[in-house]
Amino acid sequence: MQIYADNAATTKMSEAAIEAMNDCMRNWWGNPSSLYTIGQKAKEKLEEAREEIAAIINASPREIIFTSGGSESDNQALLTAAAKGNRSGKKHIISSAFEHHAILHTLNKLKKNGFEVTLLPVHENGVIRLDELEAAIREDTCLVTIMTANNEIGTIQPIAEIGELCRRRGVIFHTDAVQAVGHLPIDVKAQNIDMLSASAHKFHGPKGVGFLYARKGIILQNLIEGGAQERGKRAGTENLPGITAMAAALKEAAANMERDNAHKTEIRDYLIKGLSEIHHSALNGDAKQRLAGNVNFSFEGIEGESILILLDQMGISASSGSACTSGALDPSHVLLAIGRIHDVAHGSLRLTIGEDITREQADYMIDSVKKVVAHLRSFSPVWRDLTEGKKEFILK
Ligand SMILES: *Cc1c(COP(=O)(O)O)cnc(C)c1O
Repeated sequence: MQIYADNAATTKMSEAAIEAMNDCMRNWWGNPSSLYTIGQKAKEKLEEAREEIAAIINASPREIIFTSGGSESDNQALLTAAAKGNRSGKKHIISSAFEHHAILHTLNKLKKNGFEVTLLPVHENGVIRLDELEAAIREDTCLVTIMTANNEIGTIQPIAEIGELCRRRGVIFHTDAVQAVGHLPIDVKAQNIDMLSASAHKFHGPKGVGFLYARKGIILQNLIEGGAQERGKRAGTENLPGITAMAAALKEAAANMERDNAHKTEIRDYLIKGLSEIHHSALNGDAKQRLAGNVNFSFEGIEGESILILLDQMGISASSGSACTSGALDPSHVLLAIGRIHDVAHGSLRLTIGEDITREQADYMIDSVKKVVAHLRSFSPVWRDLTEGKKEFILK
């Protein structure tokens, strides 16, 4: 059995997206900036995609600019708010401890440029608290950036409430919604979102393309200088095949969202129930306030990397709670942020299921994970110490 259970890392392109991309490459290959008919036809396609995407998040087309993906959108949003902060002398930013590195590393860069950053705790359930956010906002706060849904543990933040609070306090609110767009309903107006990042390859579109929503009135800071594309805010000939495919993928994802989420939620909860039977294990992140496709467990006494290799041999593609940074395995900053200690964080497994997941596949995954965990524990020195009482168990 072959099961792809790493949809938070990337998704397979949908047929609709592949078709849109092929159609564009064959028939709409002109440069949208050219004035003759072939160019203007391409320009029409570009603006059609912009309108479709804007409508899905209740933005106006002028508020959408196309980028190379989530990382670029995150960088541009943060540097935009920072530039405004620099102009007004407001140099304090609020974010959370478990943001994506595209946010955290950009914040580190801003710190070197005199910005002060407050990272809100995300607590054991992986959700920030509004009273703590409110208390953290200062006179000189120029930006709040909190992700809509976490990429590792799938927890969903109270975005509308954060937006409302920021609007009331006059602070710009950006959200990295890369895991949410195409998976959760987004309404930038109702949720008072000022800037939002999205990436096509997380909702069955192609890699290397995404968008940044910036509310009318926000003057975007360029990352790339050159031509006047994207109203002068992002130079470079537009990736039209990628953009049209992104629009096709998002239209499909939005149309099927309710049905897909109901199905994924059912299988997710079935997986959580099955994996909970493994002793000395724990679900990471809130059980309900999480993405329909996300299951993340820690198992005491094993290493996540070895689970992945063995699961791969059984046909299952999954992800672990460690990240390879500069050649060393570091436990995930997300799992540390929710209070998992290093050893436990290392023994973590993320399964992110897709829309086509079946009950049979879920049974196979539960069975395989149980076998792999038992096997790895059978020769783990840490597990031996735990069972012999030389070390205390942390997970029940
Ligand atoms: C994948 C991801 C990104 C990065 O998006 P790219 O398009 O791969 O650059 C940023 N934030 C989150 C939450 C993600 O899941």
